[in-house]
Amino acid sequence: MRGKIAFSLLVITVLLAGSIYIPYPRARLSPSAVLSMRIMDRNGILLREVISAEGGRCRWAELDEMSSHVVASILAAEDRFFFIHPGVNVFSIMSAAVRNVRKGGVVSGASTLTQQLARNLYGKKRTVFSKIYETWIALRLEKTLSKEEILEQYLNRVCYGNMAYGIEAASWLYFDKSSADLSPAEAAFLSSLPRSPRRLNPYRYPGRAKKRQEHILERMFQLGYLGRSEWSRACREPLKILPASQKFRAPHFCDYVLEKSPGDRKAIRTTLDYGIQEKLEILTVNHLAGLESNRITNAAVLVLDNRTSGIVAMVGSRDFFDAFHDGQVNGSLSLRQPGSALKPFTYGLALEKGMTAARILEDREVHFSTPGGIYRPRNYDKRYHGPVRMRQALACSYNVPAVVLSAELGPDLLYRKLRQAGFQSLEKNPGFYGLGLTLGSGEVTLLELVQAYASLARGGVYREAEAVRCFENSEHDRGFPVQGNRDDSRSRRIFSPQTAFILTHMLSDNDARIPAFGYNSPLKLPFPCAAKTGTSKDCRDNWTVGYTPRYTVGVWVGNFDGSPMHNISGITGCGPLFRDVMLLLTKTDSAESFPVPPDIIKADICPLSGKRASLLCPGAVTEIFMRGTEPGELCALRHLDIEEKRGKAIPSRSITGTGLHIIFPLDGDVFKLDPNLREKYQVIHFKAFVPEGLSPGQLRWYLNGEELGDFAESHSAAWRLEPGTFTLQCALNRMGKGLLSDAVRFDVLR
Ligand SMILES: [Zn+2]
Repeated sequence: MRGKIAFSLLVITVLLAGSIYIPYPRARLSPSAVLSMRIMDRNGILLREVISAEGGRCRWAELDEMSSHVVASILAAEDRFFFIHPGVNVFSIMSAAVRNVRKGGVVSGASTLTQQLARNLYGKKRTVFSKIYETWIALRLEKTLSKEEILEQYLNRVCYGNMAYGIEAASWLYFDKSSADLSPAEAAFLSSLPRSPRRLNPYRYPGRAKKRQEHILERMFQLGYLGRSEWSRACREPLKILPASQKFRAPHFCDYVLEKSPGDRKAIRTTLDYGIQEKLEILTVNHLAGLESNRITNAAVLVLDNRTSGIVAMVGSRDFFDAFHDGQVNGSLSLRQPGSALKPFTYGLALEKGMTAARILEDREVHFSTPGGIYRPRNYDKRYHGPVRMRQALACSYNVPAVVLSAELGPDLLYRKLRQAGFQSLEKNPGFYGLGLTLGSGEVTLLELVQAYASLARGGVYREAEAVRCFENSEHDRGFPVQGNRDDSRSRRIFSPQTAFILTHMLSDNDARIPAFGYNSPLKLPFPCAAKTGTSKDCRDNWTVGYTPRYTVGVWVGNFDGSPMHNISGITGCGPLFRDVMLLLTKTDSAESFPVPPDIIKADICPLSGKRASLLCPGAVTEIFMRGTEPGELCALRHLDIEEKRGKAIPSRSITGTGLHIIFPLDGDVFKLDPNLREKYQVIHFKAFVPEGLSPGQLRWYLNGEELGDFAESHSAAWRLEPGTFTLQCALNRMGKGLLSDAVRFDVLR
């Protein structure tokens, strides 16, 4: 027996002596050996923690970054003599050794923090020899590292349960905060866990760790780490422990980041703004709830910061965890038909070729013979609108002018421009898409659309979207910016600044889109915002993409299984969601205007000819031009002729010879009520031509024979649309006496 004790003492002596000469290799203490990977938003909010190969959540925190209560509580809990002992508590070892030899079995006794660290580094089971080995390592650690370094190593490596290794990981896991911000109560709670992470697991036995926390707080008070009032406050502090599954934020985005940036990065600081992301997720769910009757189950929202090209928010579906509706599919990366959303690029191409926003385009029945047969493009409203200005054709999204233009420019050219604008998904040859390309016959992703529109916001410069701001390879290497030295091959000019500006001007012109969308459509925002809608064939996809100078936003709604939506117009599906996203992103009072590039000039033009307006042109409009493309010659149209050509002949003048006639509406016009527009805005203005020398003050209007209210003052009368078939006449003086116009018949459809 004595021999055994003597042998143990001898071993300890040898170990002590050995520790003097063999320092512990610092390389084995490198933080990189234990870190897992974190994906964070732009402000450092944790989005997801990818478990490391070693299998645990761990992140390194330096000792002076931690709250002082962390050190105080762990010393109170585990090793109050830490700063005094040489790495082992010699008295404790000796008495344990004696007990061990007397009783046989495993050595017991409180381990110092250094010994626990040593055990953590080797992870051996407890046997007599491992205890000796561990002691030897502990002594060497004490030789190699300062007490502070040992504490830092310990606090970063010890297990706090639930796969959380290290105080920082534990602090985020249980309290969603950094270890720097822990209160005494929280620090004591966490310090209770390393003793037995499984037995004290707060998720399973919330009472146990709490009880031990109270004990540790009391020790902290006794040891002088806490004053009396601090102590009693800490005892009363309620602990809010987060549920286990909190850290799965922006799931589609994180998957996207991992796919784009594989490798053993320790931390990725992304471009996402989780504050915005969270709000958009809620908006998406709320809007979809209102669209259930339209058989819409999913949506995707993407926000790009135009200045950095960083993705600010990415909502891939309504609910990532909704397996029934394929929630894990990322709608912003899915290939879908974009409908009219590609049209701006056709018009951009036309502007580059010297055409202007004032150019008159034909919207009438046209036939194209294609390899697949006769192609006859139709408009969304199944009507033709006669000659229209380019501005109106784009803003109202008429199909025929876009196809005519694309045929004139050549579909190959449009294809090349789209590829240049980042639509890599259009990978078949141009012939495959044909003339329908401008109407969205190809399949693209929301991300591609948003990227391409952002280049319009950026004055014509395309830049690939980015998801990563910087990488951090270890906690000591705080990372290098990925975007700092921007690789110029990632950005390229696709349109001149003037072309991009004219497109922006047309796409943000609310007046120009009134004929198709009404005055108060969701696209009418209280700040400058360019936007375009798109609806794919058979109503399977509905898009709105648009931008302010700062952000580009894309919204898609539809169904992942490809089933069509029900009763959706170009604007009702995702227009309102787009609007809310824009309102959320943009503070109305600080909204910017689109910067005007040099060589943009204004000129008054005739809306019917697109030429410079003469004194005879009705309702001249101001249009913007790239210097040198503005029309030089005056409009030479005899405008009465044009009105005759546009509508039916104007009968009153020719038949009665009085000259009194109705200019608007024209005979045979059809109006349609917009179910989404409030009724009070669905107003048209009857207009009459009153011959010279007669006062319009006496003009009376008769609808289906009944006199409308008194519009004593002018040539026009406002009338709120209601469904039905109507006959309209106007007269000077009482009905039956004086001048009477011919009747105009029009329909209002519901
Ligand atoms: Zn004119």
